[in-house]
Amino acid sequence: MLDNMLSNQDGMESVGELRLLQDHVNKTYSGGLAWNWTCTCREAMQDCKVWGRVAELLEADGTTSFSEVNTRTDVNCRTKGFHRSMLLALLLPFRGVRRRFWGKAYKTEQLRTLGESCYRVLSGFSKVVGADTVIDSSKTVEQLHALIAAKPDDVTLKVVHVVRDGRAVLYSKIKRAEEYSKKADEYRGYGASFSLISTIRGWCYINFQIAISKCFFERRDFMTVRYEDLCRDREATLKRICERLEIPFGEAMLFLSSEDKHNIGGSSHRFTWNAETPIRTDERWKEGMERWPKLAYYLFAGVPHKWFGY
Ligand SMILES: [Zn+2]
Repeated sequence: MLDNMLSNQDGMESVGELRLLQDHVNKTYSGGLAWNWTCTCREAMQDCKVWGRVAELLEADGTTSFSEVNTRTDVNCRTKGFHRSMLLALLLPFRGVRRRFWGKAYKTEQLRTLGESCYRVLSGFSKVVGADTVIDSSKTVEQLHALIAAKPDDVTLKVVHVVRDGRAVLYSKIKRAEEYSKKADEYRGYGASFSLISTIRGWCYINFQIAISKCFFERRDFMTVRYEDLCRDREATLKRICERLEIPFGEAMLFLSSEDKHNIGGSSHRFTWNAETPIRTDERWKEGMERWPKLAYYLFAGVPHKWFGY
């Protein structure tokens, strides 16, 4: 949602979840997924006027095939000592020490190779759409570290870490798993597996991992925002983001839009977003969530819940 709002500003465009590029190009799996691996313009990647030209640029050297450009970072980029490094980085809040430990959590060479592919795509996309600022909303910490590892000197990397209330995340995953298991045939099992404790742990992990990655950035290049603040007062929150990250604010950022967007992955609602689309917090968990998941959440995620300002 934030990526869509920011990309309404002239000079800024979004690629969406860049790590899903290959899946979109090759339509790896199309089952019941609402977006069916198409660009937001509803065209297949090869037929999209933007991605088609990005593919031409990438393939111009005669050695690259668009269908093989790998931008997918995942847990395979972690070293064996990942959890130990994470714990030490978390417990030792000194910037230099944290950088040292957290840097050892990933396979640097593998990350650099993937990061270089990401920058080639981002650079091609930037040229095609004529935007100086390109937003990647991949939302994984491995993607962030690939972009850190391969960052060219003439590129500035800025991060907005959006934290969403873990209770709303948990409830939404419970509901989604129920929906997917009802339509198991259509979704071919996709998303139906659900574990309460792993979901809660996942929320803690991803947020801690991104928060401690702050040690790689100057203050002006990293910011944490609560999703609920963005929904409740989007103007003040967006202005705060723009001011901190030194990017221009524009009124167009205050609304959602699907007009002339060429991004991938993310919410299936992105195809129909417009200026009338309401932006509100997800508070269904307050009424709908049963006692046990709530209790388990407070037990396992109580500390990070407070840590992130809830
Ligand atoms: Zn498109």
